[in-house]
Amino acid sequence: MNPAEIIRKKRSGEKLTRHEIEFLVKGFLDGGVADYQMSSFLMAVFFRGMDFEETTMLTDVMVHSGVVVDLSSIPGVKVDKHSTGGVGDKVSLILAPMVAACGVPVPMISGRSLGHTGGTLDKLESIPGFRTNLSLDEYRAAVAETGVAMIGQTSEIAPADRQLYALRDVTATVESIPLIAGSILSKKIAEGADALVLDVKIGRGAFMQSEQEAIRLAQTLIAVGKRFGKTTIGFLTDMNQPLGFAIGNWLEVVECIGCMKKNDVPDLMELTYVLGGAMVMLGGKVPTIEEGIELCREAIISGRTMKKFKEMVARQGGDVSYVERVERYRPSTNVVHIESPTSGDIDRIDAMELGFAAISLGAGRMRVDERIEPRAGIFLARKVGDTVSAGEILATLYTERAN
Ligand code: URA
Repeated sequence: MNPAEIIRKKRSGEKLTRHEIEFLVKGFLDGGVADYQMSSFLMAVFFRGMDFEETTMLTDVMVHSGVVVDLSSIPGVKVDKHSTGGVGDKVSLILAPMVAACGVPVPMISGRSLGHTGGTLDKLESIPGFRTNLSLDEYRAAVAETGVAMIGQTSEIAPADRQLYALRDVTATVESIPLIAGSILSKKIAEGADALVLDVKIGRGAFMQSEQEAIRLAQTLIAVGKRFGKTTIGFLTDMNQPLGFAIGNWLEVVECIGCMKKNDVPDLMELTYVLGGAMVMLGGKVPTIEEGIELCREAIISGRTMKKFKEMVARQGGDVSYVERVERYRPSTNVVHIESPTSGDIDRIDAMELGFAAISLGAGRMRVDERIEPRAGIFLARKVGDTVSAGEILATLYTERAN
């Protein structure tokens, strides 16, 4: 088989066979298919799409690029959540320990920053020492003993997604329903979760900007998830303005620690509670999402979520003293306040522009091998609906870059 032939076939809008998809994905992993060929293939899929059968085959091939973890020896229904990507979307950092604190095991495989959106792994790795690359045995033991583990795709679990994800990030091939479905579901199926909650974002800062596209993505994710025997619930949620106030890795960790210590960041916590309520329900702890939300609130108010987060950080090699005293972190070298030129009400904040601005400050990647600066990012002083006077601070930028 010839990679260029398969690329040409997809470029012409033809349907691929399982054998062809497998040949390309496996070849990409073992070096037989070059990065530039895979980039062209991804772009062909971006423009021509894949039907449901091809999307399911792609997902299956990606799942079986590594092992499918068996967590059946761990008691209880294992439940995970995944977001299709947003700006300032730090929900997982609070959600995973919160749901684990409610007694539902959370095995979570997340991604890095992708396109203009942030990534859970980059956020967690901003905590000094935190390891997202646990071995299979360490991962299984963490879920069994701590009730939660947050890791990335590894060379053992969903390796195809690990490599394709990094390539899509820098080749403008992210916003494609079959590629997003294959990416999200391959790692979620391989990680060993029994049920999934999907947060499908709509709006300026999302990969799906219209309601119609977001619904199509949600339907695809749910249908493919079901095909693999996973109970899957999807929520469509707003991503026109960033979630919370912080954008950028360490800034977002600090905001989450504040929330786990009961600071209320209304939009962030409202979403976290709803997704958490659904996870706790799927985990069999309560019959309704509303009752699940109550359990989650209690897990925050009692301090059990914060305690679980610290336990997870310690178990994954992170230095808990930075979680206990965030002021220990060296401050950013350059701090620039953006003042409002006029007085008025804020009626729009462009999440995508802010996502790209955060990347230029160092919070994301423009090349596969680029190092992320954990301190870089943006802290919003105002959100949509707020009033501002001329000269007041709208946002603060943090960067290690001189210009
Ligand atoms: N999250 C993922 O894991 N993959 C995507 O393609 C988009 C969001």
